[in-house]
Amino acid sequence: MTHEAIILAGGLGSRFGARTKVMPKGFITLDEAGEAIVKKSVDKLIAIGVDHIIIGTGHCANFYDELAYSYNGLVETVCNEDYAKTSSMGTLERCIPKVLSDSVFLLESDLIYDSIGLWVLQQDKDVNVILTSGKTGSGDEVYVKAIGEAKEGAPLPLLDSLGKDLTKDATLSELTGISKVSKTLLDAMSEYYRQKRADKEEDKIDYESVFGFLVSKEKIFVHKIEYYNWAEVDNEDMLTRAKDLVYPKIKEAESLRRTRREVLLNPGPSTTTESVKFSQVVPDICPREAEFGDLMSDIARDLTRFVADDGEFNTIFFGGSGTAADEAMVSSCVPPGGRLLVIDNGSYGARLATIARVYKIDMDVFKSSPYEALDLKKLESAISNGGYSALAAVYHETTTGLLNPIGEICALAKAHGLITIVDAVSAYGGIPMDLKKLGIDFAAATSNKHIGGMAGLGFVVARIEELEKQRDWPMRAYYLNLYDQWKNFLETKQTRFTPPVQTIYALRQAILETKCETIEGRYKRFTDCWKILVSALDDLGLEMLVDRTLQSHFITAVKNPKNLPRYSFDEFHDMAKTLGFTIYPGKLGNIGTFRIANMGDITTAEMVRFCSVMKGYFRSL
Ligand code: PLP
Ligand code: MG
Ligand code: MG
Repeated sequence: MTHEAIILAGGLGSRFGARTKVMPKGFITLDEAGEAIVKKSVDKLIAIGVDHIIIGTGHCANFYDELAYSYNGLVETVCNEDYAKTSSMGTLERCIPKVLSDSVFLLESDLIYDSIGLWVLQQDKDVNVILTSGKTGSGDEVYVKAIGEAKEGAPLPLLDSLGKDLTKDATLSELTGISKVSKTLLDAMSEYYRQKRADKEEDKIDYESVFGFLVSKEKIFVHKIEYYNWAEVDNEDMLTRAKDLVYPKIKEAESLRRTRREVLLNPGPSTTTESVKFSQVVPDICPREAEFGDLMSDIARDLTRFVADDGEFNTIFFGGSGTAADEAMVSSCVPPGGRLLVIDNGSYGARLATIARVYKIDMDVFKSSPYEALDLKKLESAISNGGYSALAAVYHETTTGLLNPIGEICALAKAHGLITIVDAVSAYGGIPMDLKKLGIDFAAATSNKHIGGMAGLGFVVARIEELEKQRDWPMRAYYLNLYDQWKNFLETKQTRFTPPVQTIYALRQAILETKCETIEGRYKRFTDCWKILVSALDDLGLEMLVDRTLQSHFITAVKNPKNLPRYSFDEFHDMAKTLGFTIYPGKLGNIGTFRIANMGDITTAEMVRFCSVMKGYFRSL
């Protein structure tokens, strides 16, 4: 898989005249939305899994610097100060040392294109592939001559030569400016360019012409899509063609590949992005291949880094839902003969207690109201008098939307030397947290809630120092044993048993999108959605179960209206469902509630729309 890209964006864009005097070509826009074409390109690269984009800049470099900044570390710029003298190969040369992997997408900044082109290159097994199309008649064509014919199941045709002035024949295709190249080829291109300058020949060389010069040394393949929708914008005529002829086709083709939008307002699994959904569609792979082990290992490191220092904590995977991670923690992290105190202020706290009971762990339950603040004084007294070795609690009680003061709870536990076991299933990835600062030793989470992936992977972020202590403890569970799973993963980069392969690919994409948004950004988006919801509930005179100062902003439990006898959750649910919103019933035995979650890929605009649906329903009663 290709996870890096270089965008060549140093050029002056002089063929445009006034338009690009004070702005680089990549910042041209095509519609009222006013999104720069290079931003569209960056977003398409990220959507296909690229997590490191290097933009080679020159003319008006500050535009790209600002753009890069908005991607929170995924995009960097390298400035070619000599851009006016060196052409695109000079810019590419400066980008190459930044490349970290063996496979890179190489693109020009002045392109618009259907994202399917990146997908096609991603599928090609060959490492060096130039994407070409049938004839466009755009006016600045670079023609590509290839050897051999494209046939299903056969190797791709090999590049023979390319240039603007090739003798035209029917076999030629057109260079799109989108390629996939190996680090080896990039290094060879650099070397060629260095040599040319040493020989005092030419500083100004187009990067694509170097492909042609290297065909005798490197195998470069040509993948032609006859009717590919793409355009380059080098001058006003090309821009008109791009806007009027090509861009509408790209938009249509891409929209046809989207799934129907369903906004899940249930407390997870939550709405996923299109790119997360599509990231599961990958060639079959045996998960025991080193490539897959590396993927899991990178994911584990990233999941740790969201909440802790990966020198002090490690993430351990289990195929299973969030409850599997809870069960792994509870069954593995209470020392043999130890005593556990479980805080139960909702059904997930109760579930932790049930798990401990099943494993016959010596345990007490500290009960507290599921919709009122926990009494920390009472908890302290329970902790200090019980002779416990561990404490288990839920960070965010999804039952009611109550956010427990987990830092204060764990501080009390730590003051008495307890191991802290926290169900962070509906908090991880949604709210910034630092496990060390919070005093958490073990935190359970899942692939499908705030992190935005698919269901199927439970994981525990664990303090290494505490894990080490479990080395000689007898196993209570086999599949869910934390220590064994951890040791095995450290040694082999493999889970002991079959991992949920496609869920893991989706998780990689979800992590990438979380990095792009940041957890702080995500928390703000959820809070903004929550504020919209709360204001609509206020307008309707509906009462929330939990005081707003104690709420997580992820789940809002709303009391069933007493004054509206015709209210029916099922009717409300069915009506909202037909309009694309899925809501969820309450989970408290004694108080009737319904719940609205804002998790996952939800926008404030969608929350506004849902609120008008909700108002419509309640006002019809
Ligand atoms: N813990 C909490 C706090 C939850 O919110 C959930 C699910 O909503 C779980 C545990 C269980 O997760 P799963 O349904 O994935 O087993
Ligand atoms: Mg051109
Ligand atoms: Mg161009």
